[in-house]
Amino acid sequence: MTRDYFAEGELVGVLTTEPLGRALDYKAPEGGCWLGAFVEVPLGPRKVLGVVWGPGRGDWDSAKVRAVGRVLDVAPMREELRAFLEKAGAYTLTPLPAMLRLATRAPGLSDPPSMRKVYRLGAGAPDRLTDARRRVMATLEEYGGLAFTLKELSEMAGVTSSVVKGLAAHGAVEEADTPRDAPYLPLDPDRPGKELTADQAVAARVLRDAVRSGSYGTTLLKGVTGSGKTEVYLEAVADCLKAGRQALVLLPEIALTSEFLTRVEQRFGAKPAEWHSGVTMTERRRCWRMLGQGAAQLVVGARSALFLPFRDLGLIVVDEEHDTSYKQEDGVLYNARDMAVLRASINSAQVVLASATPSLESWANAEAGKYARLNLGARFGQAVLPRMQAIDMRLEDLPGNAWISPTLQGEVKQRLDRGEQSLLFLNRRGYAPVTICRACGHQVGCDNCDARMVEHRFQKRLMCHQCGETRPMPQSCPACKAEGKLAPVGPGVERLAEEAAKLFPEARIAVLSSDLFGSARALKAQIEEIAQGGTDIIIGTQLVAKGHNFPRLTLVGVIDADLGLQGSDLRAAERTFQLMRQVSGRAGRADKPGVSLMQTFQPEHPVIRAILSGDEEGFWQAEAAERQQAGMPPYGRMAGIIVSGPDAAAAFDLGTYLARSDAPLRALGATVYGPAPAPIARIRGRHRVRLLVKAPKGVALQPALSEWVGGVKLKGGLRLAVDIDPQSF
Ligand code: ADP
Ligand code: ZN
Repeated sequence: MTRDYFAEGELVGVLTTEPLGRALDYKAPEGGCWLGAFVEVPLGPRKVLGVVWGPGRGDWDSAKVRAVGRVLDVAPMREELRAFLEKAGAYTLTPLPAMLRLATRAPGLSDPPSMRKVYRLGAGAPDRLTDARRRVMATLEEYGGLAFTLKELSEMAGVTSSVVKGLAAHGAVEEADTPRDAPYLPLDPDRPGKELTADQAVAARVLRDAVRSGSYGTTLLKGVTGSGKTEVYLEAVADCLKAGRQALVLLPEIALTSEFLTRVEQRFGAKPAEWHSGVTMTERRRCWRMLGQGAAQLVVGARSALFLPFRDLGLIVVDEEHDTSYKQEDGVLYNARDMAVLRASINSAQVVLASATPSLESWANAEAGKYARLNLGARFGQAVLPRMQAIDMRLEDLPGNAWISPTLQGEVKQRLDRGEQSLLFLNRRGYAPVTICRACGHQVGCDNCDARMVEHRFQKRLMCHQCGETRPMPQSCPACKAEGKLAPVGPGVERLAEEAAKLFPEARIAVLSSDLFGSARALKAQIEEIAQGGTDIIIGTQLVAKGHNFPRLTLVGVIDADLGLQGSDLRAAERTFQLMRQVSGRAGRADKPGVSLMQTFQPEHPVIRAILSGDEEGFWQAEAAERQQAGMPPYGRMAGIIVSGPDAAAAFDLGTYLARSDAPLRALGATVYGPAPAPIARIRGRHRVRLLVKAPKGVALQPALSEWVGGVKLKGGLRLAVDIDPQSF
């Protein structure tokens, strides 16, 4: 039994984010402290943030043990979150201090809260009531005792701020100072939602019963794009809130949040808390603190929201659960989908994994009965699924340096004539993927990475998509110095836009690519403009494949359906299948039927045929059988080891040493492959070597891995990272 409270002077173990491996002993401060308390402790000459993790070990000279500096004014970290950090750390082989860092990413944790002016109902009476004044008073009365900022109140009442100030002058409205970390407006789960279709109602009922059970469970909510998955899981959110518990909705892309916030506001009467990189520091701090106090009911966020200090988390929704961006690829390597399941199991919470094209992992878990499974078969209302067809590029008459086939051109033209939108999809940022010198054949590459420099013509620069380094477009070849000989090879979205502008000079064209927007707000504005019909042709990378609703979009043209099928990655088929079905799902979401045309040189390829036929079960079965036979995830376990360093030979030597000393893994029946150059053999000047470990399912892989790599001495700038369940293999 661990104790919850430590009296002054008792030994406590404090975990800090410093890389020390374990909790250090301190004496509880004056007034004592709770288990889980956030504290400031002296460490050498510094003061660092820590959490009381348990009783002290007492293995230090007691005269040297220092006292906790002070206890911070935030809710102690709950036992569930501490257990989650420990288990997630053990799973991903991440030391606890690094896990703690994920959970303490709130700015200004140790600062006292700053104040701001708010307005609430006052005791006085206004001298006269104008319409505007009446609206302000009605708004305040509607929300009872709540206080609002000037901006909030005037927006809600639809008045200028001077109206509020006028009322304040008479005392009808009272001005007060409150800490910035104010509770969020309450969401009202009792407001009626949309009337659900029969299918939706069945699915919603199942989810609601699951949430009401108050126990752990995971449900795969599969439904074609536009079938109403969001409407359905919002019902589960409603029941979670009714039970007085908190809910978290994870989205793969910040650009999707604003549409989602609006939907939540329509459904529950107020906006939820937000947690992602586009949120201001003040708001993040508020979100973090209010969650701990139970003064925020719903968070919509990015994967890092999993580490927030919820007081009572009852439901986690992972929307577009197949999305690869849920995998964090640097620092702590974790998959938010899997971590959501772990956190929910510790919190006795429910998980909903929503997708039109689930990951093979989730599909297999549903098949095996580990996850419940719900299916929404049809699109809501009049919307029907797009017709999918291949354009056989071997039969199309296209000049060099052109990529929009005559067949596709004809279809776009029809859409223009009818005032409908077309989306041309190409998963390649920039102008051209390769820049080559026509005099010497040199391909311009990055100095620091094993990657080509990609021309971004809008910015007149070359960019490395690995390290982000950019430089001005050179006039002469970096190798042979020939002037004016550098030429683009192949298409990127910018070049495609150029081609479309020539073919359709009258069309309004927008390019949607993550590098073209300086801010989340700019991207949001562009997406809203498209949704409102301000664009005829959208040219986009996979940014557009994700859940946006463009009601006038009736044609999707995939420029290169074969793109993802090249290369040796075993997940290529799954990825291509998901991406093609997702992007096609953008077409025909409202009352007009949609078409999705895929340009391909290999229409007979099994993956292309599966995409066209829409036989998803057949595709998954075949893919599953192949993985099963190869002992690959989800039917076997994998881990990747990346050794990197400034010196290629040293990295290879360490890789070879590891491969030879694989006894702890062989004992499990696991196999080590490699070392081989990593898929990208050099990034930011560091050479990268990869080993892959394949193990049977059900073995204790992590302990064996730590035994294997744990004792390795890293010299000469070498680094070693373990990637459990790697994305590519
Ligand atoms: P998904 O999440 O599966 O892509 P959404 O929940 O976004 O689907 O639904 C697609 C569109 O259909 C949305 O605009 C949504 O508001 C609408 N919709 C879905 N179900 C209903 C319903 N029962 N009543 C009214 N509108 C609905
Ligand atoms: Zn680079």
